[in-house]
This record gives sequence, structure tokens and C-alpha cells, in this order.
Amino acid sequence: MITVEGLYKNFGSLEVLKGIDCKVDPQEVVCVIGPSGSGKTTLLRCLNLLEVPTEGKIVVDDIEVTAPDVNINKVRQNMGMVFQRFNLFPHLTALQNVTLGPIKVKKMEAKAVNQLGHELLEKVGLGDKADVYPERLSGGQMQRVAIARALAMQPKVMLFDEPTSALDPELVGEVLEVMKDLAKEGMTMVVVTHEMGFAKEVADRVILMDEGVIVEEGTPHDIFTSPKSPRCQAFLRKVL
Ligand code: ADP
Repeated sequence: MITVEGLYKNFGSLEVLKGIDCKVDPQEVVCVIGPSGSGKTTLLRCLNLLEVPTEGKIVVDDIEVTAPDVNINKVRQNMGMVFQRFNLFPHLTALQNVTLGPIKVKKMEAKAVNQLGHELLEKVGLGDKADVYPERLSGGQMQRVAIARALAMQPKVMLFDEPTSALDPELVGEVLEVMKDLAKEGMTMVVVTHEMGFAKEVADRVILMDEGVIVEEGTPHDIFTSPKSPRCQAFLRKVL
């Protein structure tokens, strides 16, 4: 579903990604872990061109994202993105936040889009919050609306950028549960996360990044119980 080859990203003279090669299979859940500043978010943002790679090739669902003439909107329609901060529109209800994309971009008609919106809110456990504005929702509820909003575009891949790190601890679980359900349904997911428990339980594969490179990758079992590289061992000692 996703192929990344020789990906480099510089911000001015700062080299953030220094040659990333990786693949994500259809229906695979890949968690990206690693120290702060190692380039995890930048990698994720390069996948849907929120950051333009300095060098390298990215292909998502047979579309070369890094081709000069790529249709960025088409690329982004295939990929739902959930951010650390939920960025809901404050003047729109939960339902309107979810249905805006399909109405504006997919030109879906009102009845079908409302049905889709209600179904998705139901799916994330917020069936009763359709008409509520974001200011009346908790952080966990807002993030679940944000997930429903991303799903409304019927993406082939979901990208999550530390989706629980802005939440109060007691709200983290409800968001992770929704993500687990998505994984079970076979959604292809790339998740940048500090939630090692989630990575252990849900990931098919874990990628550990440090200083702009992939240091180690493997099954959760490989990474968490028998990490090979000293850098991976040192990171896990700090976070586990
Ligand atoms: P991580 O997600 O692993 O914490 P990031 O990808 O957010 O790492 O950041 C990697 C490095 O790139 C950091 O040093 C960060 O300050 C820098 N960086 C990220 N985005 C930008 C940007 N838009 N402009 C300049 N530097 C950036």
C-alpha cells in the first residue's frame, strides 16, 4: 500500500530524514516509535505531502506521491490524517465536522452524507453527540470526531500523528479503543505513538526511528522483548 525509498527531508540546513526505506502492506498496522525529534512526524507528513520531501520516492496505492505532476488532492483523499490537536471547526457541530469533507470534496448529496456521518459517529461511540459543538466535547470525544471526520473521506490508509498525546490520561483509552476497532476491521494504519502498550498489542510491525533513520523494525515481540541494536535497547529502557 505504501512504499518509501531513499526519503530525505531537510529543513534548511537541518537534516531531519536521512534515507528512509520502508513499506506498509494493505491492512497492516505499523507503529512508529522513537525519541522526540527523531523525525517520526516528518516522515508521516511526507507521506501525504504536508511536507515536501527533499529527495526520494513515495508511492501510495500505486500513485507516486513524489511525482512532479501529482494530483495532491487525489493523494490526500486516499489518506485520512489524525493529528495530535484535533483541529475541529468550532462553529460546526460534530456531524457537520464529519460531513464537510464529503460534501465539499466528494460532492455527496445531503441525505447520503448525513447517513454516513451518523454511522461514523456511531462507530466512534458518539452517536448521541451529532448536534453538539466541539466546545461541549471532551478532548477524547473531539479526537474521536476527528477520526470519524477522516474516515468520512473513505480513505485507503489512516495516518495518526500522536493522536493521544494531547489528551488527559483518563481520555487516552477511549481513543485507543476506536483505533483498535479500526485495526481489527482491516484498515491500513501508520501510527506515530508514545503508547507502547498500544504498539505492543495492536501493531503488526513496529518501526523505531532515531536521528532521522530507521534503527530497527520488526514485530512487537521482536522489538519489545529482544531488541537487537543498542539504540533500540536504550530507548526501550527509558520508556518501558
Ligand atoms: P518527532 O516526531 O520524532 O518528535 P519531528 O519530525 O517532529 O520529530 O521533528 C524532527 C526534527 O525536525 C526536529 O528537530 C524538529 O524541530 C524539526 N522540524 C520539524 N518540522 C519542522 C519545520 N517545519 N521547520 C523546521 N524544523 C522542523
